[in-house]
Amino acid sequence: MKALVYKGPAQKAWEEIADPVLEAPTDVIVRITHTTICGTDLHILKGDVPTVTPGRVLGHEGVGVVEEVGAAVRNFKRGDPVLISCITACGSCPNCKRQMYAHCENGGWILGNTINGTQSERVRIPHAEHSLYRIPSGANEEALVMLSDILPTGFEIGVLYGQVKPGDTVAIVGAGPVGMAALLTAQFYSPARLIMIDMDANRLEVAKKFGATDVIRVGDGDAVQKVKALTDGLGVDVAIEAVGIPATFDICQSILAPGARLANVGVHGKSVELHLENLWIQNVSISTGLVNTNTTPLLLKTVQSGSIDPTRLITHRFPLAKIEEAYEVFGNAAREKALKVILSA
Ligand code: NAD
Ligand code: ZN
Ligand code: ZN
Repeated sequence: MKALVYKGPAQKAWEEIADPVLEAPTDVIVRITHTTICGTDLHILKGDVPTVTPGRVLGHEGVGVVEEVGAAVRNFKRGDPVLISCITACGSCPNCKRQMYAHCENGGWILGNTINGTQSERVRIPHAEHSLYRIPSGANEEALVMLSDILPTGFEIGVLYGQVKPGDTVAIVGAGPVGMAALLTAQFYSPARLIMIDMDANRLEVAKKFGATDVIRVGDGDAVQKVKALTDGLGVDVAIEAVGIPATFDICQSILAPGARLANVGVHGKSVELHLENLWIQNVSISTGLVNTNTTPLLLKTVQSGSIDPTRLITHRFPLAKIEEAYEVFGNAAREKALKVILSA
């Protein structure tokens, strides 16, 4: 079969490799029908993720069809259409028992990291009973690809940890796919204001179409002052950090109203200065986290019912065999006006 193989920093190839085989009775082999590329895959190609070693097939998002089933798997059979979660969960370790699947002792984020991933014609999914979701008949499979990672990430680590409530003023810093997923899912809770902050004017225009009430372009003056001006000097109830650099965390910690929540979603590579000398008196809380994907069943229902339409995040489509072209587009997202790219077999 063909797969996108990581060859070391800045190197990858779409090439022939051996088909995956069942290695444990809890495994399933899935034939990929649709997959996508994540910002994390770009981090890997920059050499930022040392757990990914040369020879690894990339990708942790996708949908497909079950081809082979291990002897211990009861709830899937050959031919079932399935959604692949970016988080593998064994379902029985202490962390799985408390729904902290991101920290599963036998899984967590392993696909396209420590085991071969989904940017491939076929993939082996360990602990399949807890790591795959059956796709309801008639579902839009492209929409469901957004449920492998970005929708649960924006929802769980941004909106739920940020405790967005009716009437809240919410600022989201970072209008990439993850920030947009937070923007879409925050609207489940009817916040009064959704302020989107980014440096990319095109993404901010898209954010307005997705429900942002206000947008602030970093670079056009002081973003913190602009948030204060929009909120009568008070600040926001929830600040969601969806970039992962010190400058954007700093915006978040500088715009909090008393009692506010700062939900950090971005992956940070550098240490950040926390201004506790200002924050200690503000009754604020700060949360962090890796997506658990424990809300995937709930999100599946919201997509099925039409309460949210994640296909709005898809800007480009390619055949799976053209994945290297898709990386070029996704890797130059501002120039290409790209959010999510879909690859279909
Ligand atoms: P992305 O790179 O597509 O989006 C980031 C956005 O930040 C871009 O729109 C960019 O224009 C904007 N930006 C960059 N510098 C800025 C600045 N100085 N001021 C304002 N805006 C700025 O990334 P994404 O795929 O949307 O992911 C966002 C973050 O979430 C990344 O750090 C990613 O690694 C992380 N992530 C976290 C989890 C988790 O479980 N916690 C899961 C997936 C992704
Ligand atoms: Zn991802
Ligand atoms: Zn586990």
